[in-house]
Amino acid sequence: TEIPNDLEAFWMPFTPNRSFKKNPRMITRAKDMFYYTPEGRAVMDGTAGLWCTNAGHNREPIVAAIQAQAAELDYAPAFQFGHPKAFSVASRIAALAPGDLDHVFFANSGSEAVDTALKIAIAYNNVRGQGTRTRLIGRERGYHGVGFGGISVGGIVSNRKQFGTLLAGVDHLPHTYSREHQAFTVGEPEWGAHLADELERIVTLHDASTVAAVIVEPMAGSTGVLPPPKGYLQRLRAICDKHGILLIFDEVISGFGRLGFAFAAERYGVVPDMICFAKGVTSGAVPMGGVVVRKPVYDAFMHGPEHVIELFHGYTYSAHPLACAASLAALDVYRDEDLFGHARRMEPVWAEAIHGLRGLPNVLDIRTVGLVAAIDLASRPDAVGARAYEAMDRAFREADLMIRITGDTIALTPPLIISETQIGEVADKLRKLLSTLH
Ligand code: PMP
Repeated sequence: TEIPNDLEAFWMPFTPNRSFKKNPRMITRAKDMFYYTPEGRAVMDGTAGLWCTNAGHNREPIVAAIQAQAAELDYAPAFQFGHPKAFSVASRIAALAPGDLDHVFFANSGSEAVDTALKIAIAYNNVRGQGTRTRLIGRERGYHGVGFGGISVGGIVSNRKQFGTLLAGVDHLPHTYSREHQAFTVGEPEWGAHLADELERIVTLHDASTVAAVIVEPMAGSTGVLPPPKGYLQRLRAICDKHGILLIFDEVISGFGRLGFAFAAERYGVVPDMICFAKGVTSGAVPMGGVVVRKPVYDAFMHGPEHVIELFHGYTYSAHPLACAASLAALDVYRDEDLFGHARRMEPVWAEAIHGLRGLPNVLDIRTVGLVAAIDLASRPDAVGARAYEAMDRAFREADLMIRITGDTIALTPPLIISETQIGEVADKLRKLLSTLH
């Protein structure tokens, strides 16, 4: 493909400053663990694209499935019509989901999945005659995409402050991370339960009869890899049960093997009422998202007392044939190569390699869980985020490594196919880089 001369003329990558034009990081190809630049330089993908290409890039079975599907059936409406692969994907997701979560709503992204789940929560309460339950509870530092629902329950100030009053009736739990108390927060069950008890306070304040749902990422990804303190998710579940509140896990990042299991719910032993998924469901190859729920919720939403309440929800591209074909192939690769098991087996190797970077200049803290890592860098006093930006840019240019940054935190989420040797290479590249940052 031709590269345009003026890189800002019609589009810009999402970057907080205008540096892309001066400093383009262009990608033209990918295979397995690597991206390739226009010059053919191989760059190791330390971020699985955007936490999505879990099976690695351009895997043959996935490519072949998409090609075959494109030649056979390009599009089928999910309104009044069906195509076989949509039913297969739903059944495969139901088999992977924990507990009795077995009915699927299809969307096309994580943001749509979240909006779908929030709508389901409120409508479900309406059709079961509890229509006053409309309040939603998110969490500080939660990321749930960029739809109005997602930024309302989300807890990132800069993502929400310019967008008016957002959804009414939303509260936020406190986030669960404190660097100073990290050993304490991740280690002590009482502490996790104590933090989750804040939900009881919010519920009491508004009365449980007004609260529809609580939504959290089991592991907050985009705001810096914050695993749940022990006992936290369990206590959220118990409080939701006590008050008849639906618990939604946003597993857009944590789903499909990222934490060594199909869903983080399994890892943490807590079954929510809904799971939002996206990203890894197709290994990033075609957009797809969705929500998996249990049958009573599904039935209430889809068939709830007709003529009493009319419901409408669904997308033109829900269960798109190309996405379904990609998903079936990706799920096959995960299963055939036991990639969730591989992620579990690599977790200690990964943790040791990345924690080995402790003590390097400017490294304040390191967290790892599953095949995820965050490295917090000290901010430059005059330019918050500049140090991580330098790390990201130089990693790409000098170390042939793609990393992701948020603020002054580096996030690493390699494809699940990463080998032990490659884990060592990621750590070596980072060690060199971090030793020479400004
Ligand atoms: N929820 C979570 C937890 C996410 O991490 C993301 C994306 N990073 C989203 C929702 C939104 O997904 P999308 O960008 O596909 O809309």
